[in-house]
Amino acid sequence: MKLKLQDTLKREKRDFVPRDPKRVTLYVCGPTVYNHAHIGNARPVVVFDVLFRLLREIYGVDHVVYARNITDVDDKINQKAMDEGVDISVITNRYADIYNADMAALGALRPTLEPRVTANMDAIVSQIGALINNGHAYAAEGHVLFDVASYKSYGSLSNRSLDDMIAGARVEVAPYKKNAQDFVLWKPSKEGEPRWDSPWGEGRPGWHIECSAMIEANLGLPIDIHGGGHDLIFPHHENEIAQGVCAQHGHKHEEDYARYWMHNGFLTMDAEKMSKSLGNVLLVHDLIQQYPGEVVRWALLSAHYRSPLNWTKDLLDQSRKELDYIYGVLLRNKNVPLKAHQMENPLEVLMDDLNTPLAKSKLFELAKNVEHFVNSEVKRTELAQEVAPVAASICMYSLRSLANVLGVLQQDPEDWFKGGADDDLSAKVEALLEARKTARAEKNWGEADRIRDELNALNVEVMDGPQGATWKIK
Ligand code: AMP
Ligand code: ZN
Repeated sequence: MKLKLQDTLKREKRDFVPRDPKRVTLYVCGPTVYNHAHIGNARPVVVFDVLFRLLREIYGVDHVVYARNITDVDDKINQKAMDEGVDISVITNRYADIYNADMAALGALRPTLEPRVTANMDAIVSQIGALINNGHAYAAEGHVLFDVASYKSYGSLSNRSLDDMIAGARVEVAPYKKNAQDFVLWKPSKEGEPRWDSPWGEGRPGWHIECSAMIEANLGLPIDIHGGGHDLIFPHHENEIAQGVCAQHGHKHEEDYARYWMHNGFLTMDAEKMSKSLGNVLLVHDLIQQYPGEVVRWALLSAHYRSPLNWTKDLLDQSRKELDYIYGVLLRNKNVPLKAHQMENPLEVLMDDLNTPLAKSKLFELAKNVEHFVNSEVKRTELAQEVAPVAASICMYSLRSLANVLGVLQQDPEDWFKGGADDDLSAKVEALLEARKTARAEKNWGEADRIRDELNALNVEVMDGPQGATWKIK
């Protein structure tokens, strides 16, 4: 079965065919590193992490190159560095490290490449030079601007005509612009701001050119898949296409920059758009103190990636219960061996444009089936005794494979249930359980009850099973 992806540019769901199956390329616009990421920022990270994992599964781990940039040149970074009286690198390194740690807590793999703007200035200057040489950009008063009128397909990604844009947009009118829609590729730095050399004077790049230049320099054109949140379609991605296409020689089409475009829907809080400018911001950093990262990840995957996702406490609590159920199945059936079956492709549910809600219900179904087959093996006919263990193993294999691509159920089930307990508490609980076992063996019921009360007081629930007692924090 083929992977199908909804392509924003072509406005249809298409079979995904990479340019080179030995080197599949994916680029996602990354963070501007001047503060903590909010939970909305984590949505594209987790969504494209699932895509990255799926592509690695299909094409092989060494055949997928995933780049996510770090924007380390920005007005807000300058402001923060000025406020703290430090170099911008102090700010950007601090927040890039926090970002990576927070996203790792959500189970996101590190991308293959994490290019930074400050390390790609030559590529940026060179792409701007190519745009000027090709007649698509002009220098004026220390600025370089993209000449929107020179690119006939401008607006094709966001499906807007130039006239619409002129009528509808509040764009900055500046005396050095030929056309109000022309956007900045390079601009002079203000007093006290960081600056880099260029043929057009000292200054710094505009935002859009970063991505197209880093893509060309780090991945090569065209790439297979470009992703980001749907707020980036216009103007950011529209401008990236214009730059990436026009910097190349000869007659080029939009697909000569990126062949598939994917955009995630927005996460909202109580149906309001969540953004840094509104007060209703929830930081990943804080959230992972309150919930295991896997619960947050599971909640992020509960809606299809293109749909809006309303973020509530109920969603998080429900997600924890759902994971508890599946981890419970894994715990009770940890001796069931894994067995692949050629008729069963557990990843099929994700092949239809990354349908993660369907994948989650598939995990439930598989978990239920594992228990069903394990139990029927104990009770029923000779035939069931032979077939049921095989069926349980096939379901367990499918469950594990699908969970790995979703990046969930990655913990040892026992550790999962002990989550939140530090080493001291774990040692104490284990000792109490040993003492309880001894008391029971000696039929010392009074002592066994006393120990049970002590465990209760520690907020520990004991689960007695065929392989002995396990426990969890209530
Ligand atoms: P920003 O730091 O605002 O540039 O956002 C980084 C990434 O997060 C971009 O891909 C945005 O589209 C995405 N993003 C920002 N806010 C949200 C949100 N509330 N829901 C989903 N994605 C978001
Ligand atoms: Zn970008």
